[in-house]
Amino acid sequence: MSDDAQRWKDKYLSSLEQQERLERRWELRLDLLRRGLVRSSLAAEGADKAVDQCMQEMRDILRRDDMDAALGGLIPRLEKAVLDSELRRQQRAGEATAALTRLVEQLQQLQPPREVRKALKTLAKQLHEASGQTHQLPALLSQLSSLQGQALEVLRTPAAEQPGLLQRLFGSRGEAVGVGAAAEPAHAPGASAPSAPPTAAPLPALDSLPLPPGLLAQGEDETQRFALPGSEPGYSAVAPHIAESLLGLLAELELPARHQPQGEALRQRVQGGLNWYELVPVLDDLAVLVLAVSDSGQREFAGYLKQLNERLAAFIGTLSEAHEGYSESVESARDFDRQLREQVSGLQHSVQSAADLDALKQALEQRLDGLLQTVSSHQRQRDGREAEVAQRLQSLVQRVAEMEREAQQFREHIEEQRQKSLLDPLTGLPNRAAWSERLELETARRLRYGGELLLAVLDVDHFKRINDSYGHLAGDRVLKIIAGELHKRLRKTDFIARYGGEEFVLLIPATPLDGGVQLLETLRTAIEACPFHFKGEPVTITLSAGLAEFRGEETAEAAFERADQALYRAKAGGRNRIELG
Ligand code: GH3
Ligand code: MG
Ligand code: MG
Repeated sequence: MSDDAQRWKDKYLSSLEQQERLERRWELRLDLLRRGLVRSSLAAEGADKAVDQCMQEMRDILRRDDMDAALGGLIPRLEKAVLDSELRRQQRAGEATAALTRLVEQLQQLQPPREVRKALKTLAKQLHEASGQTHQLPALLSQLSSLQGQALEVLRTPAAEQPGLLQRLFGSRGEAVGVGAAAEPAHAPGASAPSAPPTAAPLPALDSLPLPPGLLAQGEDETQRFALPGSEPGYSAVAPHIAESLLGLLAELELPARHQPQGEALRQRVQGGLNWYELVPVLDDLAVLVLAVSDSGQREFAGYLKQLNERLAAFIGTLSEAHEGYSESVESARDFDRQLREQVSGLQHSVQSAADLDALKQALEQRLDGLLQTVSSHQRQRDGREAEVAQRLQSLVQRVAEMEREAQQFREHIEEQRQKSLLDPLTGLPNRAAWSERLELETARRLRYGGELLLAVLDVDHFKRINDSYGHLAGDRVLKIIAGELHKRLRKTDFIARYGGEEFVLLIPATPLDGGVQLLETLRTAIEACPFHFKGEPVTITLSAGLAEFRGEETAEAAFERADQALYRAKAGGRNRIELG
């Protein structure tokens, strides 16, 4: 083979190699896009069942080879699922306005003053017009709350020998409330609520807390007269407790910026002291804020889904464009190959049929010109296409990165909310929901890998007496301190939760039974030794516990039941002790 022919052959082979490299790059980019879509779809999960279903399908499609057509079919369905989800949200809003309308009607039946009646009528009209539009609800709710306040103001005048408020609202069932309503005016509206106790104290002093009014300050007869049905104390005795819970709830609410002034105003109202009459409007206002929070969360999510949907559609567009570009370039490479072959076989033919050197020279020059033109035009075409495709890919890669960032932020936000919902606000310990999650995890782990697992139920002794003698705030403080004392004596792998009231539950993995007994003894003596005191007098607080070791393949419920029975025996046996179940 001549040098020239060899040169052309090399050039041709290197061209083919380049072609293969291009193909491999395409595969990598397609894979990157697939991964981006899968991750984004995972991030959007959890808001709506139908949308979740589409996302799942999308992930399945992305794992297959023929994804173009399948995605084309899926996207309209995904769009519909998102729209349906929005529709259901609107339906719920419609139900909320209907409930509010009923509330307005009930207030109208109280025959409030004329101007309030008029305002209620306008509000009913506005509610009718706003039906199904959640964003108007907060404003209407707050109007309703203020009108309700005005309507109730009339009922408050002592001269009016009217039936109790709830009796008028709900008919004859108001009897029990009548007691509270009649008794309550003894406490002037605006009586200031005690401030919240400090959180940590080396020497927990119960008398440093202001006493809730009503329980100790009054004689036995008074207490009886103020008692609500059952064994609950009068409203004024629990008012500071309610105020503190409401303040806690308000602090937990993550209000959107435009609702923050409302939240602050409400906080100040609660801090200024709550009496019986103010409670209802305050709860109404709080409901408005809670609604605002949940609504904004939903809207945010619906917005995210919509955005994701649009981007997915854009993606599919760019993907198929890119795919077309790819097919074009394969096609043109084949074309180039064919043209080269033609030129080379033409060259062979010319060489064979040339009669003399001059003719050969001329034929060769012509053929070489043709070859050079073919090569350079192919080169130009390919460069142009490559630049275009590279640009498209660059923008796709940027979009994937953007979506991943957003999805990550969204996931973090959801995780933060989830973590919050797993904590008990009073003690800061994991709550019952968190307990169930952990219990499931530890029992599954034990069934799989074996090893010891202990479960204990702890209950503060005679806690009701603490509440009754020193007040609920003191009781709360005791719970906070006990939670802290227990928690700090545990290992990282142990798990403690507030199960409810004054009851705590404990999971102790990888510890033999006698080690568990030792640990519980340490906890028991630590609580007994806490130097609580009230007005200089020491107050001893103790706890009892039941401990059970998981046996064989028994369920968590069975082990819990045994620990609970053991706790019962510890109580019956005199309290301040540990029993085995
Ligand atoms: P025992 O020794 O048999 O366990 O008696 P006890 O008084 O501790 O048990 P009981 O179940 O009769 O009473 C528990 C009380 O705990 C009743 C309830 O008012 C009070 N309590 C529950 N949760 C809280 C809370 O969060 N704060 C306060 N201050 N008291 C609470
Ligand atoms: Mg108890
Ligand atoms: Mg109990």
